[in-house]
Amino acid sequence: MTDRTTTGAAISIQSLRKVFDSTVAVDDVSLDIEAGEFVALLGPSGSGKSTVLTSIAGFEFPSAGRIDIGGVDCTRVPPFRRNIGMVFQHYTLFPHLSVIDNVAFPLKMRRVPLRERRRRAAEALATVRLDGYGERMPGQLSGGQQQRVALARAIVYQPRVLLMDEPLSALDKNLREEMQLEIKRLHHQLGMTVVFVTHDQGEALTMADRVAILRDGRVQQVAPARELYERPANLFAAGFIGEMN
Ligand code: ADP
Ligand code: MG
Repeated sequence: MTDRTTTGAAISIQSLRKVFDSTVAVDDVSLDIEAGEFVALLGPSGSGKSTVLTSIAGFEFPSAGRIDIGGVDCTRVPPFRRNIGMVFQHYTLFPHLSVIDNVAFPLKMRRVPLRERRRRAAEALATVRLDGYGERMPGQLSGGQQQRVALARAIVYQPRVLLMDEPLSALDKNLREEMQLEIKRLHHQLGMTVVFVTHDQGEALTMADRVAILRDGRVQQVAPARELYERPANLFAAGFIGEMN
């Protein structure tokens, strides 16, 4: 890790490129995200959203370009040293662990003592309004509750950055809307930087401070919702936002 500081942004993605075999998944993406900002990565399937997110998380290393987190070059830093929480579309809870043990798991990985783990896990569960659910097994919870547990697990070590990859896509409409509000509430309450991947225009536009529209691995436009409506940068952005139902 180097400590060259280039920008004050919480996350600074600079000319990121990621190639898998012969597929260019991400092509020259640059994006600065401010501390505490809620940014959505929006685009059709295959546009490179997940690859940008997993590159920020450190699960993929860039083919070219650079990613700074908190002013530090993290391009080659492994995921567990980036202080980042992550939530995926299919809540990947451990089915054989109780809810509280699921939430406490990242603390166990960080060798936090047992009592402290359980205290902080209970606190995280309260934050997502699941107090009292700690001793249940994941299979005994609804989809929305399971996704809340996944959220609690992502925030339990108070990461400065929370990354979410289509966290609500598997939920039905009512639950999805409830969880959208829940995530916004959590963002206001905790103030971390959020990068939220979705292919749902409405979800991106209602939730995010700014939306980055991706197509074929390239950023088409980065702007607040209103500006995307009023001044789309190109035909693709106009058409894609216009498709919203
Ligand atoms: P999105 O999340 O927007 O659907 P992805 O980032 O998953 O897009 O994928 C972007 C492109 O990169 C797609 O063409 C996809 O098939 C390809 N891709 C993503 N991950 C891999 C991988 N591990 N191996 C090969 N190709 C991949
Ligand atoms: Mg994806």
